[in-house]
Amino acid sequence: MSLPVRQRKTMPESGPLVDPFNRVHTYLRVSVTDRCNYRCVYCLPAEGVAFMRRDRLLTYEEIARLVRIFASMGIERVRLTGGEPTVRKDLVALVEQLGQIGLKDLSMTTNGHLFAPHAEALAKAGLTRVNVSLDTLDAEKFERITRGGSLERVLAGIDAARAHGITPIKINCVVVRDENEDELERMVEAFGAHAKDTQVRFIEKMPFGAESQRFVPSQSLRERLAERFTLEPVDRLAGVGPATTFRIAETGLVVGFISPMSEHFCHHCNRLRLQADGELRTCLSRDDTPSLRDLMRRGDSDEALEQAIRRMVWGKVAGHEAHLDGDAFTAFEGVMTTIGG
Ligand code: SAM
Repeated sequence: MSLPVRQRKTMPESGPLVDPFNRVHTYLRVSVTDRCNYRCVYCLPAEGVAFMRRDRLLTYEEIARLVRIFASMGIERVRLTGGEPTVRKDLVALVEQLGQIGLKDLSMTTNGHLFAPHAEALAKAGLTRVNVSLDTLDAEKFERITRGGSLERVLAGIDAARAHGITPIKINCVVVRDENEDELERMVEAFGAHAKDTQVRFIEKMPFGAESQRFVPSQSLRERLAERFTLEPVDRLAGVGPATTFRIAETGLVVGFISPMSEHFCHHCNRLRLQADGELRTCLSRDDTPSLRDLMRRGDSDEALEQAIRRMVWGKVAGHEAHLDGDAFTAFEGVMTTIGG
């Protein structure tokens, strides 16, 4: 798979946030905590996870300050993630602060377990859209994959998002061999009834941590669905996301395939990840930038932070190195809950 080639020699000190490969960054994921109330088998070990010390986490004020600086450099869309964002206390207060920045889009990725009671307040605070992780519609299997999660609560979370207009809702399903491949048709059928405001995306499992096998390529999922449904390709809108999308002709449901392993989307990567401890991760597979938290806490000005961010983005690599090499994987460093999925 080819990676982008270098196109620029000097770092611009103003204007859009650009890297040497001429990728303009308009999208920021903000991890608000690395803690999670689930222990999904492909994401975290069952026990013994070391979480960040609380004083190392960015405060809400620090997050809002950084997002304002990012917005002044052209970041238009922000997605809150984690860990599980809803486990951090008083998340609505953060959404309120970010809601006032004037972003085009303020969304969240959540496992949905704690979402329903907060849906109304989050909608009022300015949350526009939500992605909910849901790998199966079988309650027992759900409990097994998430190690103790409740399908009922997650479905209630999805209903609450819909009721309060936090739409479109994207259902993210990570496909794991011998675990939930047989759920595809069921998911497509179940969400077909909500095709107006819901999409389903099947995600290739990435090789993090102990669970580095049991990967299923998107292509085989597409073929499997095509045996049962009519898949009409939907044009991929530039910069809108990494999914290759199809419309299920029978119901109108839009289904996406996200293929970080089999179909690199590094060429179009316009995203940055701010970890809960203030480290900026410019590529999913790399973690080599200094902490913006430390720069803020030592008293750096907004201008100094802007230039520091520009230098970090200028250091972004062409693409991630986790790849399929025959049947072998090169694993990513770190875990998703720290990086911010
Ligand atoms: N707790 C939130 C949630 O469940 O959506 C947000 C964080 S979670 C790390 C973000 C997304 O990353 C989820 O959709 C999860 O399924 C996905 N994820 C975690 N580990 C993954 C892996 N090894 N490969 C692909 N996706 C993964």
